[in-house]
Amino acid sequence: MKSETRTFEPEAMLVGGEWISRDEQALDAINPADGSPSGRVSTADAAHVDAAVTAARAAASARSWRDMLPHVRAQILGRIADGIRAQSETLAHLQMLENGKVLNECRAQVVGAAATYRYYAAVCETLGAEITPSRGNYLSMTAYEPYGVVAAITPWNSPLTMEAQKIAPALAAGNAVVLKPSEITPRVGLAVARIAMEAGLPPGILSVLPGTGAITGDALVNHPGVRMVSFTGGTATGRRIAEAAARRLIPVALELGGKSPHVIFDDARLDAAVDGVVDGIFEGSGQSCVAGSRLFVQRKVLEPVVRALVDRADRLRVDLPDAPDAQMGPVAGFRHRQRIESLVQSARDEGGEILAGGARPQEGRLAAGAFYRPTVIAGLDNRATAVREEIFGPVLCVLPFDDEDDLIAQANDTAYGLASGIWTANYQRAWRVARALEAGLVWINTYKQLSIATPFGGFKDSGIGREKGVTGVRLYQQSKGIYWSMDPANVRG
Ligand code: NDP
Repeated sequence: MKSETRTFEPEAMLVGGEWISRDEQALDAINPADGSPSGRVSTADAAHVDAAVTAARAAASARSWRDMLPHVRAQILGRIADGIRAQSETLAHLQMLENGKVLNECRAQVVGAAATYRYYAAVCETLGAEITPSRGNYLSMTAYEPYGVVAAITPWNSPLTMEAQKIAPALAAGNAVVLKPSEITPRVGLAVARIAMEAGLPPGILSVLPGTGAITGDALVNHPGVRMVSFTGGTATGRRIAEAAARRLIPVALELGGKSPHVIFDDARLDAAVDGVVDGIFEGSGQSCVAGSRLFVQRKVLEPVVRALVDRADRLRVDLPDAPDAQMGPVAGFRHRQRIESLVQSARDEGGEILAGGARPQEGRLAAGAFYRPTVIAGLDNRATAVREEIFGPVLCVLPFDDEDDLIAQANDTAYGLASGIWTANYQRAWRVARALEAGLVWINTYKQLSIATPFGGFKDSGIGREKGVTGVRLYQQSKGIYWSMDPANVRG
């Protein structure tokens, strides 16, 4: 790591419409590509959380927001989208500095974040309520109303994407949002909040409170003014948040971890399948909740698939994230790399064979960063630690299977159920397997194809609730049944 001594003023956080700096307990941002400090950010304690939630409650119930016509709210969301596009390069570089993601991936995520605001602007302007069938002389309706204050808690792997996916629909639904970004990536949320304020979002409607989960996150989830929690992160944290929410009887949406099965049948187009597998696990250095980290290959094609994969993994260009032809950057931090290394060691200890990677890269210019080579492991069974635990790094475990029944039994033998992928030329089989896999998402002859228009979320320990899509707005609303008598005798005069 570089021993640079450059000092930074702590960047301000947004608390109820006020930008507040404080040096005490400020977070140091470390660039994982070379270990150098890249900034310092103020953090929120329980008093800041209280101030943000109190302001959010007041702003959410003020007529200026509560009664804002949907097409006017949509205009604000549209201006946020414009602002994000106008600051594309700044935002992409900021995320790259914080989590080491390859610059071109960050650029694509900026485009996606702007598109998310634009999509929810359209939903906000067009989504109606319902008149339900009446069983008498009355009108019955379902109206949808915001919860009031939504707490959004996000991880470090893709703040551009994750934060847009929570904030845009929650605002479209009429809420105020208090965001607690990951302590590793707090600055993307702050930069987007500046854009949102400039776009005309009323003060207090969005607060961004950097800080640790233990202090800031815990105070937020347990604040009596928070009426809904939307969380993306690890399953253990999600469970803790769900317990706190259960005590308070408030709803939660949880997007959690995964150990997604990626399946190649012997009739698949192998070159396309191998491309899909390589992107599915190594993009973002494997730090993706939907990473296809367990590869099941039908025994007849195991040998050529493994050979091609090892060749591809060995040739992937691991480099500084802003190198023009980098295909994989560092992982997001040095502690995180240690965890990846210990899980790869567990694979060795349990009889696994490291066919590619399994080490830090040798190139001198990468020595100061948190880099790890794309890794392919064979020879483990479905019970091994590296196959069961989410590694959240560039590590692929390859397992053989004999037939469809064997595949489904192995693929579903996991606590998780987020994503899955199937490569086959047999359409009936694709359909059968897609329906049998216990996962919230199935890709057939493709992988990691994602659209803001399609609901997203997990089965089993991978989560509760579905983000994205038109119904993503309903996640942040509660329905209200209204009965209105049409009997004139019930009305005076
Ligand atoms: P964590 O669960 O450790 O943290 C996620 C967020 O929760 C962070 O902001 C963290 O704060 C905060 N947090 C931690 N403890 C608490 C608490 N007690 N109360 C409130 N908030 C708390 O996950 P990571 O940040 O390490 O992210 C990686 C995980 O996220 C992976 O397991 C991955 O699968 C999952 N993920 C899931 C996705 C999905 O869509 N299903 C997408 C992306 C990631 P801090 O860390 O700052 O202390």
